[in-house]
Amino acid sequence: MNEVDPIVAAQALSEIGYLLRQDPDQKFRARAFSDAAWAIAQERPDLAELHRAGVLKSLPGVGEGIARVLTELVETGHSRYLDRLRAETGQPSREDESTLDMSGYRGDLHSHTKWSDGRATMLEMARGAEERGYRYLCVTDHSPRIKVVNGLGPERLLEQSKEMAEVQKQVDGLTLLQGIEVDILEDGALDLPDAVLEILDVVIASPHVKLRQEPEAMTHRMLRAASHPHVDLIGHPTGRRPGSREGATYDFEAVFKEAAKHGVAVEIDCDPARMDLSPEMARLALECGCNFAVSSDAHSPNEFAYVPMGLWMARRAGIPPERILNFQPLEELTILLHR
Ligand SMILES: [Zn+2]
Ligand SMILES: [Zn+2]
Repeated sequence: MNEVDPIVAAQALSEIGYLLRQDPDQKFRARAFSDAAWAIAQERPDLAELHRAGVLKSLPGVGEGIARVLTELVETGHSRYLDRLRAETGQPSREDESTLDMSGYRGDLHSHTKWSDGRATMLEMARGAEERGYRYLCVTDHSPRIKVVNGLGPERLLEQSKEMAEVQKQVDGLTLLQGIEVDILEDGALDLPDAVLEILDVVIASPHVKLRQEPEAMTHRMLRAASHPHVDLIGHPTGRRPGSREGATYDFEAVFKEAAKHGVAVEIDCDPARMDLSPEMARLALECGCNFAVSSDAHSPNEFAYVPMGLWMARRAGIPPERILNFQPLEELTILLHR
């Protein structure tokens, strides 16, 4: 009997969900695997004990098929179903995968609150990060452009900074950082003035709309964002939602090289609906010299569990912890952000 780490099991289920999502016909099955992964990442049950008692199916979202995968993980530490899906989708295991785990993960750099489209207050999010033992949390609500998310302009950002100072007093050992997830406009300009971006701790530039621009215009748009002096990282670089929305296509190599040149990191967004990049693209970005952020893009505290679920992508891409911002102590992170 194998004492399988529930986080390792959650990552296997999460990767299966990701691979199934590539096939639109498997959408529901994909979601079932992602949901079970999320439940396990949050509750961290003793899987070997549940297996011994024959009650793996008592876990939320775990039916016959998922229970079979869990049983094999408990008994052998391995899933032949995952291996088969990897082979079928042309993504076999590789020798040079890294051995990343959550032990060195210090904090999340991409999260939302009720200030924009999040479902929790800043205090609730801060307490959630504190409970996970994070040393820092960056609050990155949206910029004003997309009206439905109630994005923040300069005045509300100033108000938000006052609330942050108050919340900071109520948490222990956790440093709050104020950031923004600023929209990359069609021409590559950003949705807030430089004078505002300059004073924020972290600037994530993300593409949200007009993702299907033709590749040449999209390349220009992304190059401009990747070379902007105040941008720290490119959020969910293609904007895709596997199985439901195709993402942007552009000259990824050129954009990753430009990002690397300017010290701009690229993000692995662990929201199971996104999982953007992909292992192959993350590998390309690594070869281009980029640093990375591995983010939850959490809209509520329980969604912080997306990171332990999604970390498999960075491992499969062979990214070592020293190339990931979230694995740096706060002092080191601050230096990297104010390069
Ligand atoms: Zn976004
Ligand atoms: Zn976001």
